[in-house]
Amino acid sequence: MADLFQTVIDTQVRPDQADHLARHVVEFLAGKGVIAASPSEEGGYPRGPRALEISDPAVGRTAHETIPPVYSHLQVIIGRAIHSGDMSDPRSPRAICPKCAAVFDDPDEEWPAAVQGWLAGDDDSSLGCPGCGAAAPVTAWGYDSGTGFGNLAFRFWNWPPLSRAFLEELRKELGHPLAVVRGKL
Ligand SMILES: [Zn+2]
Repeated sequence: MADLFQTVIDTQVRPDQADHLARHVVEFLAGKGVIAASPSEEGGYPRGPRALEISDPAVGRTAHETIPPVYSHLQVIIGRAIHSGDMSDPRSPRAICPKCAAVFDDPDEEWPAAVQGWLAGDDDSSLGCPGCGAAAPVTAWGYDSGTGFGNLAFRFWNWPPLSRAFLEELRKELGHPLAVVRGKL
């Protein structure tokens, strides 16, 4: 079976705050019993006794899932990254202009160039829309598939769907807007 993940991204944390906030959230989750307080040898945080309390009640889980998933931990990702729902697909996602909703046609590979600029540290690395002429940061464009940008992210491997209440709690702890990317490995 595929390994499913939910990546919760802090979309506005500054790079110099990411370490501190990552530690804060790990302490917060360990305190709630959602994860163990220290990472396993593989670098992820194993589930704690109350891991599933942050998820919606299980729906439609099949009784014959006998092969356990490979991963079941929390992975903390510190550092500027673009997060994708399909890690096996190397194509650029479809970018949609935040002003006029036109789909960005990209014969000159401007989108990857703008993303490279952002990854290199330019928060305002932007993409101009051929439709309406407006330029917006590449991180502010819309994306039809799971795509998110940020300097800190928490990837929950094979957790049932995270509850709205939990995501709101996490947003308050981080103090920034979140984006959630769901996908599979
Ligand atoms: Zn436009």
